[in-house]
Amino acid sequence: MPKHIRSVAVFCGARAGTDPAHLAAAQALGAGIAAAGLALVYGGGGVGLMGTVAEAAIAAGGRVQGVIPEFLTRVERPSPVVAELEVTTSMHTRKTRMFELADAFVTLSGGLGTLDETVEIITWRQLGLHDKPIIILDVQGWAQPFLAMIEALIAQGFVPESNRRLYAVAADVPAALALLRDAPPPETAAPAERL
Ligand code: AMP
Repeated sequence: MPKHIRSVAVFCGARAGTDPAHLAAAQALGAGIAAAGLALVYGGGGVGLMGTVAEAAIAAGGRVQGVIPEFLTRVERPSPVVAELEVTTSMHTRKTRMFELADAFVTLSGGLGTLDETVEIITWRQLGLHDKPIIILDVQGWAQPFLAMIEALIAQGFVPESNRRLYAVAADVPAALALLRDAPPPETAAPAERL
């Protein structure tokens, strides 16, 4: 891995979805992140794809940092195997801490929370607030409607075409890890160019 990528935040579902391919991808991603020597930053829960990715990373000998808001500890039940757990006072501080801890972001399948986190991290890059790689994993076409929405916004003149560069799409876990390996070092943020 390049020196500037030591940790990666994974955004993914608190549910597992109906297709077992999502669970398999979560397992492979957690194990792959650990095998690449990267720390995993994630939402701290022990349920759904979140729990699977974290437990797979720990089982493969990796470092896992969970960040969870206090009120969600009863719902998303932190996994007992995750020793490094930060409990925040709000969703906003959770997202800020995950952003600070991570050198790159991977979106795995999930629901509205996953979409929210993905859109936010893309818009922060659009605004020049960071230049960290963002990779969207398209497991079984999960990302296609989201990517189609962005294309529709480009076609309607609401999003500049150049914003396609803000994220990369990976068809599977090995492709996502390869994108992290090849990620160029962050550039000085240039908000005007991006907007
Ligand atoms: P979901 O994709 O809906 O299963 O949610 C995945 C994760 O995103 C869970 O840990 C949720 O608590 C979290 N989440 C849900 N809504 C938000 C939000 N507005 N901001 C940040 N995280 C969220």
